[in-house]
Amino acid sequence: MEEQKLSDLGEFGLINRIKEKVSLYHSESIKGIGDDAAVIDNGQKYTLVSTDLLVEGVHFDLAYVPLAHLGYKAVAVNVSDIAAMNGIPKQITVSIAISSRFGLEAIDELYEGINAACENYKVDLVGGDTSSSRSGLIISVTAVGEVEKDKIAYRHGAGLNDIVCVTGDLGAAYAGLQILEREKQVFLANPEMQPELDNKSYVVGRQLKPEGRTDIVHELYAKGIVPTSMIDISDGLASEILHLSTASGLGFTVFVDNIPIENQTLETSSELNLSPITMVMNGGEDYELLMTISQADFEKIKGIPEITPIGFVTEDKNNVLVLNSGERAQITAQGWNHIKP
Ligand code: ADP
Ligand code: MG
Repeated sequence: MEEQKLSDLGEFGLINRIKEKVSLYHSESIKGIGDDAAVIDNGQKYTLVSTDLLVEGVHFDLAYVPLAHLGYKAVAVNVSDIAAMNGIPKQITVSIAISSRFGLEAIDELYEGINAACENYKVDLVGGDTSSSRSGLIISVTAVGEVEKDKIAYRHGAGLNDIVCVTGDLGAAYAGLQILEREKQVFLANPEMQPELDNKSYVVGRQLKPEGRTDIVHELYAKGIVPTSMIDISDGLASEILHLSTASGLGFTVFVDNIPIENQTLETSSELNLSPITMVMNGGEDYELLMTISQADFEKIKGIPEITPIGFVTEDKNNVLVLNSGERAQITAQGWNHIKP
């Protein structure tokens, strides 16, 4: 038998492989590997724990990402995973590995962003670790949050005919990334050139300063809605739909026409000759929430303008994107493919 390679497994295959060899020893560990955050029973409520790693050259490029924005984003993406469980973040730890190329000012700037996020999300920085690195900057943030037991939303739990909803608008962060990459290439070719970011502040802002949607969690509490399933949109809508669909054993049908996309995202997509649907489905880093809610909550959801219904849950396990032309496409891990008639 041929030896299995890491590159063949992919990220999700690798995580599953790790998960298979893990045993849990405490009954309080309600949910381990496999959701946006781990779930721990603390008696009265559930404690949520989530961690993310940001590596220079892989997740961020300091050629166009200011350190303060990076610090903010490192916290926001963890807050987003706690929000995806319908929880409220309370504490974070921050660990950094720094190469000799960074001075004290750079670290101050990074923590300016981290502290700004802590103030915005009302989370307490309670610890971390500091190390040197051979090359580049690495930031790891762990967030701890809380949710009442009857309010938790897992990736599983979507029910037949539930309404599929998203928050905010999608595709903008990817559009912003493409603009920043374009301007970086222009600058590298001619350092005299000023970046052309006019009329791009929204999409660039969405890439550089994403927000975790704890505001939505509060809105859901206020309206008495508990999503039947939820995930944050970090890797593109297609990938997140597949996660919820697989976890629930049901299919999702989504109407392109209903997906909220900002005008500046549409303009940028045509400027870059990219399909806006591809940007939404395969892009990523929007950090909005994808959720399913039961039909009974439909009237209540109308009272939250930031939440848009985009489809429904079906018994047929196929995940389908209904295009504006009425054509149907299959949602796949790579995005979406036209279904041949
Ligand atoms: P997200 O995109 O929401 O941050 P990930 O895809 O990174 O989620 O992770 C999915 C699940 O796998 C989570 O439960 C996470 O804690 C777990 N996980 C990821 N990497 C590892 C690892 N190296 N060891 C153990 N669990 C991991
Ligand atoms: Mg997540």
